[in-house]
Amino acid sequence: MAYQAGRHFLQIPGPSNVPDRVLRAMSAPTMDHRGPEFQKLGAEILERLKPIFKTESKVIVFPSSGTGAWEAAIVNTLSPGDRVLMFETGQFSTLWYNMATKLGLDVVLVPGDWRTGADPQVVEEKLRDDASIKAVMVVHNETSTGVTSRISEVRDAMNRVGHDALLLVDTISSLGSIDFRMDEWGVDVVVAGSQKGLMLPPGLGFTAVSEKAIKASESASFVRSYWDWSDMLASNKTGFFPYTPATNLLYGLREALIMLIDEEGLDNVFARHDRHAEATRRAVNGWGLEVLATNPAEYSSVLTTVMVPEGHSADNVRAKILENFDMSLGTGLGKVADRVFRIGHLGDFNDLALMGTLAGCEMGLGIAGVPHQKGGVQAAMEYLAGAEAAATRAA
Ligand SMILES: *Cc1c(COP(=O)(O)O)cnc(C)c1O
Repeated sequence: MAYQAGRHFLQIPGPSNVPDRVLRAMSAPTMDHRGPEFQKLGAEILERLKPIFKTESKVIVFPSSGTGAWEAAIVNTLSPGDRVLMFETGQFSTLWYNMATKLGLDVVLVPGDWRTGADPQVVEEKLRDDASIKAVMVVHNETSTGVTSRISEVRDAMNRVGHDALLLVDTISSLGSIDFRMDEWGVDVVVAGSQKGLMLPPGLGFTAVSEKAIKASESASFVRSYWDWSDMLASNKTGFFPYTPATNLLYGLREALIMLIDEEGLDNVFARHDRHAEATRRAVNGWGLEVLATNPAEYSSVLTTVMVPEGHSADNVRAKILENFDMSLGTGLGKVADRVFRIGHLGDFNDLALMGTLAGCEMGLGIAGVPHQKGGVQAAMEYLAGAEAAATRAA
């Protein structure tokens, strides 16, 4: 392909843009993963990971996609035939459900309209009816819809019933972008990945595991080998891994954690994501279009999903934007294919990058002939430059 000047705008909701500092950290020579230098790095990273999950428990790092970490969460804590409760919040919850079914779990699936999150009220009802449920499995931020489930309220619902089920949560697109509190919210297994809020390339999968989850793993009878936590936890005690870890991704991870936690600070990171999400919604509103999420308490600060009016193709809008402005937006997945496009505003991102993104969207809507009003970009600018946004910018 011919050279294209300037930077490609990668505004899909993950993989997200990788900061130059992280890329540079990853370009260091690969080291001996059995040597003393790695041992120090391994131990440091395993400690540095805890605050991002807001946990005192162990975080396990796999060289894998997020999907691998989904499997690790299941096979370490459950047994074939176990009954679990899941919610159809969108494409990612559907894929996790498919995996759970394929592995032989007995899944109670609560159907959904892809516009709302897991309903804490329904969690309470389902658990009250069924003491045999072994785990509640929820996707925190549904990346296919831009809906964030209220995990603390799901935990409160479980507590009201006094139910003993484990709580397994997918934070693959939320960790490091929106607030998540593993210990405070009583989450037993947190599944995460490197390529979204953590600002790394794809290739690392994480499970953070509570004492209760580790205890459950002692009697869980799924066959497991690569994903087995016990070998990993035994090696990790000394800073090592049972097999070759993704050393260069770990250099990048250390750098990203320093940037997010020590330098910008997590509260500022979350406020930044909230501001950009609010500005984006104001732009969508200014265009006279609708976001997919219907409950303001569940609006995602990671991405915004824009509905395209009947009779128009969202994929055509994306194609026109890529062709004309060298920007990638997220495609509609599963049930909302071609009905929506997704604007990612997560990771290494700032106000002017957001304005470029929204300008590309507004121009693309025009080129694709989608009926809309002008003024979305203007509304976002007014918000970002105004006092309301300044309050969070200064925080
Ligand atoms: C991206 C994503 C996944 C899948 O992760 P992979 O690394 O592609 O396996 C799962 N769940 C959510 C919520 C995601 O955003």
